[in-house]
Amino acid sequence: NPPMPDATDDLFANNRRWAADTEQRFPGFFTKLMEQQSPQYLWIGCADSRVPANQLIGLLPGDVFVHRNVANVVTHSDLNALSVIQFAVDALQVQHIMVVGHSRCGGVRAVLENTRLGLADNWLQHVRDVRNLHQVFLDGVEESRRSDALVELNVLEQARNVCHTTVVQDAWQRGQRVVVHGWVYGLHNGLLEDMKMSVSNADQVGAAYGTALGGLKQRYSPSRPAL
Ligand code: ZN
Repeated sequence: NPPMPDATDDLFANNRRWAADTEQRFPGFFTKLMEQQSPQYLWIGCADSRVPANQLIGLLPGDVFVHRNVANVVTHSDLNALSVIQFAVDALQVQHIMVVGHSRCGGVRAVLENTRLGLADNWLQHVRDVRNLHQVFLDGVEESRRSDALVELNVLEQARNVCHTTVVQDAWQRGQRVVVHGWVYGLHNGLLEDMKMSVSNADQVGAAYGTALGGLKQRYSPSRPAL
């Protein structure tokens, strides 16, 4: 008997079509990429299937280095994320690192709703730390907007963590251009928002974080309607 077709067969068919289309649109695309990659961007985003980095920003393979995990967390002892950042900054010399959260993030919502997921709860403890840090502010945010507020707070905290890594600190120290950004993606409209926390040297980290946090708090203050 021939093997039963399964859902992955389609993927190979899709892939062959994609490779042929790409080669037709950009003759020599794959052989050129084989030589080297020289992306300018490192995207640190959520693993959520609805937030695919390349597609959202219209970039082809070779243009963006990507690290994704549940709730786009960057912790100081995560060798996986740190290795990606180190390779991106030191070897690829990316000029921009963006931490990208997204609205209605399942990881963030689990934290707010105290849902037990299992092993992932240990990972999400980092997001719980962010919630605890901003608990008083979050309690004052309208309930329907609270998870999006925590998504944004989490972006600012994780972007600040990126700034504090030895990799980024060392790059700035030697005068290398690296700008760290905090962005949020709207699942409801497909649009990226810049949280206006762009940091390009060690002295700016505190002020940039403070300004972005102030803007966030204003946007979510109960007296102001949602934009
Ligand atoms: Zn998410």
